[in-house]
Amino acid sequence: MPASARKLAVLPAAPVAPAPNSLPVSRPTMPRAEQVLPYLQAMDAAGWYSNFGPLLMQFEARLQARFSDGAQVVTAGNATLAIGLALKAMGLQPGARVAIPAWTFVATAHAVLWAGYRPWLIDVDPATSMLDPLATESALADAPGPVDAVIPVMAHGAPIDLDAWVLFQARTGVKVLIDAAAAFDVLDRGPLPAVVSLHATKALGVGEGGFFVSRDPVLNEAVRRMTGFGFMGDRVATIASTNAKLSEYAAAVGLAALDGWPGVRERYMRVAQRLRLALMGRPDAAFQPGWGLTWVSSVCVVDLPAGSAATLADTLAEAGVATRRWWGEGCHREPAFAEYERAAVPVTDALARSQLGVPFYSTMSDAEVDHLASSLSQALDRL
Ligand SMILES: *Cc1c(COP(=O)(O)O)cnc(C)c1O
Repeated sequence: MPASARKLAVLPAAPVAPAPNSLPVSRPTMPRAEQVLPYLQAMDAAGWYSNFGPLLMQFEARLQARFSDGAQVVTAGNATLAIGLALKAMGLQPGARVAIPAWTFVATAHAVLWAGYRPWLIDVDPATSMLDPLATESALADAPGPVDAVIPVMAHGAPIDLDAWVLFQARTGVKVLIDAAAAFDVLDRGPLPAVVSLHATKALGVGEGGFFVSRDPVLNEAVRRMTGFGFMGDRVATIASTNAKLSEYAAAVGLAALDGWPGVRERYMRVAQRLRLALMGRPDAAFQPGWGLTWVSSVCVVDLPAGSAATLADTLAEAGVATRRWWGEGCHREPAFAEYERAAVPVTDALARSQLGVPFYSTMSDAEVDHLASSLSQALDRL
């Protein structure tokens, strides 16, 4: 019998509100059908359903307005495709070596491979869970061969030092593409090319979708061409391409999602701050710096005592609290990437055993937040 059930058997019922008996790890926040409907009606009126129609142009313009430095947005079918297309647009030759963190979602590595390049998996900084520009620069000396590009990942949507990466690129000549898949909220400048995901589970979702953003018009045009058969205003296939367009249906959802975003963001902040308060006395459960205070994302990843993630996940599951190791054990442990080059990645190995994604959604009730906080506290006490 699990310990929690044993306690229930001997203790009288406590006079508290019933705790929610199960918390999923994620519940997407998407616009409701009635919020999308006016845009779908505009689409029907125009009779234009894909191929850079009026809704998509409006959606891109509104995404672009979020960037303070004139960076231009190019939408795509998803972020994984957009990362691959961006690498191609950046002029990498077939077989080029692309450094990526071992500590990222598998999509980063898949995108590199799918585009015809070789991932080189390297370690992240323990303080940020991200590649560090200076450490990456030193690591170049130990690379198995020339490194052509690097993809720093904004871990679970956290801010990154873009200016330091601009300097890295200038000093090393290694091209930088930012995987900002989860960083819809944070990314508001485009000094380096970046890709944001619009997947339903990310902060702003259209279902499946993503966008590329950069201040380089040549890059933007190349990515745009490659999302639409290499055509550009005509039917001439100018460069090797694919079809990665976003339809008017997706743009309709995106426009409705943008209408609701300020309110959704506020709710994410409110839920995050309640959780932070509830766990304030627990230095053994640390949030990402600034999470819920200066920026939001659709997930909550906590740093726990070394090696404790699996045990805590089991204890939390007994309390009905689902958890997820969003990045598994690290990309270096995924069978799909077993044959690719990697450096030693002790920090990634440690993070995989100390970080845990816990339930978090914009619609989380106070009782749900409190249930999560008390379950996590009890689980930590039992370690
Ligand atoms: C979600 C995510 C992706 C993939 O985004 P899709 O739009 O689902 O293809 C890539 N990289 C990271 C770090 C992600 O979190």
